[in-house]
Amino acid sequence: MQYPPVGVRVLVPLGKKEIVGIVQGKHAGALQEGIVLRNIIAQLDEEPMVTAEQLQLWRWIADYYMCPIGDVMSAALPKKIGDKGYSFSPTKKRRVSIPNYAGEIDEIHPLDAQQQTAFGQIHEAWETHDIVLLHGVTSSGKTEVYMHLIEEQLAAGKQVLYLVPEIALTTQLTDRLQRVFGDKVVVYHSRVSDAVRAEIYRQQLHAQPRLIVGARSAVFLPFDHPGLIIVDEEHEPSYHQQDPAPRYHARSVAIMLAHFAGAKVLLGTATPSVESYHNAQNGKYGLVTMNERFAGLQLPKITLVDLAEQHRRKEMYGHFSDPLVERIREELAKGKQIILFQNRRGYAPVMQCAACGETPRCENCDVPLTVHMRDRRLTCHYCGYSIPLPTACPSCGGEMKVQGFGTERIEDEVMQLFPEARVLRMDLDSTGKKEAHEDIINAFSKHETDILVGTQMVSKGLHFDDVSLVAVLNADSHFNQPDFRCYERAFQMLEQVSGRAGRKGEQGEVIIQTYQVNHPIFTHLLKHDYTSFYDEQIGEREMFRYSPFSRLITLTVRHNDLNRVSAAASQLQTRLRQVFGERCSVVIEPAVSRVQKYYLRVIQLRIEAKANVARAKAMVQAQIDEVVNLPACKNVQIIPEVD
Ligand code: ADP
Ligand code: ZN
Repeated sequence: MQYPPVGVRVLVPLGKKEIVGIVQGKHAGALQEGIVLRNIIAQLDEEPMVTAEQLQLWRWIADYYMCPIGDVMSAALPKKIGDKGYSFSPTKKRRVSIPNYAGEIDEIHPLDAQQQTAFGQIHEAWETHDIVLLHGVTSSGKTEVYMHLIEEQLAAGKQVLYLVPEIALTTQLTDRLQRVFGDKVVVYHSRVSDAVRAEIYRQQLHAQPRLIVGARSAVFLPFDHPGLIIVDEEHEPSYHQQDPAPRYHARSVAIMLAHFAGAKVLLGTATPSVESYHNAQNGKYGLVTMNERFAGLQLPKITLVDLAEQHRRKEMYGHFSDPLVERIREELAKGKQIILFQNRRGYAPVMQCAACGETPRCENCDVPLTVHMRDRRLTCHYCGYSIPLPTACPSCGGEMKVQGFGTERIEDEVMQLFPEARVLRMDLDSTGKKEAHEDIINAFSKHETDILVGTQMVSKGLHFDDVSLVAVLNADSHFNQPDFRCYERAFQMLEQVSGRAGRKGEQGEVIIQTYQVNHPIFTHLLKHDYTSFYDEQIGEREMFRYSPFSRLITLTVRHNDLNRVSAAASQLQTRLRQVFGERCSVVIEPAVSRVQKYYLRVIQLRIEAKANVARAKAMVQAQIDEVVNLPACKNVQIIPEVD
């Protein structure tokens, strides 16, 4: 009989169902005990639709991130292709067409001196390193350097993958790339329709030189001799996929993809992740730096406003300090634009009864409900559970008051303080509809609005020529998180938001409101000094044995019965302690200990970076397998997460 080739889809029985699977290989050795053989029902493709390199990458992901390869497959294949009705035949007539650029084509900009030097240094570094970190301050022209590197690759008949952290915000970037590379630009992300995603995937199997611009899922496309993978804003947490499994980091997967395919990698950012900069410092990655902004533009001037002092003097207007109101007024009078940053959506994070202190909480999760005034509801940001805004306290009938503030409340206060200004808000709530991001960004770019209020969405990669002032309404929320990466994230966020200020010849200004003016982070931030910030961080990381000096494996125990979760967590912790000793934490109750009706407990393992991590993972997996098979722990999920 003829065996189906590796990489084709086959229909196989699973219990009473029929499901689509991929042929991974031919099993040669003796069968393990307990394995049952079943016949393949049908072969769905003539030709492989998953390449050998893809399978290699899937296996690496499954091993590294401790997840079943089936989960990797589900994440990797566009939805339509996982369906048995989808035909892969190259002769089939298709209705969807992909690159279809009818706009203008421009010449690529010539590089300036600094960019030209960086371009040469990147090539030089690639001679000895597969991975190069480009550390260029905001607006130094990293994108222009990427474009010259892309041009070279396309001319040599190679493919390029250009990863961006949040594709919804990259209309500006895609426009810029299409004007230079026209039809060669293909955009791939979750907002692209299923049919188009499947078609892009299919075409990639027989690909011509082209540029794929995509969010993290684009690392799963088939590539034919890619020459270069660019990871833009490499520090961005959104490269990390949280739920569902595989819980992977797209930067690491991209690096492995390049490794298997023999491509070069360029990581670009103004604020490198501590891990990447460490790798550049110790010689594992090449390092290229651009310290100047393009066209002699200066980095913005950052001013701190002491909120405690302002409150004492009673010089606050809602959540706006007196100096901030003053500066906004002046800039508006000059016809400039302003960005106000508040990393919390909704009107306020909490509503509380003034009489009895009752706070409405989510039914399914261990969190208070967020106030949303626009639709007059209280909503859970974890599960979406929502109730109408109560007019009085549900317990005692007392008066309900809101506490804290989010973007909606800031928008309201702006409208009261500056009634003449045109205001737009950009957050998850205002951008739900498909084109909403684009509309908001376009309106602001065309200066049809004066003030943009937004969450971290406004901090990424956007360039607006008339923005002279950026304000951070409350920096403190960034410092007070229970996570060893919180200072790193805070620095990155604040430096990136600052980068939105000042274009075209004038120095921009950033005002940061905080209760902690003496926080050490500001010493580095005021000077835009990433390296001094890094030096301090790496010292602390080493002292406390955090990443990159150790690897963190987080095990989340999950079930809707609290007793079972507790039992499983304590069983697992006891066993891991025996194997790993002090490397294993106690059972931790996370800050949000119940999500979507599931109770959560967490155990953390810190393995020395130099240890045999693969062996450690195998030992962890063995303990997990034992615990989930205990009668008292029936059906409990134990979810590993690596790094
Ligand atoms: P970064 O990615 O480092 O933040 P960009 O590449 O987006 O910076 O460049 C910032 C701005 O400067 C953009 O508006 C870009 O068009 C302009 N710019 C940068 N380099 C050049 C160049 N060599 N020629 C013309 N314009 C440039
Ligand atoms: Zn909830």
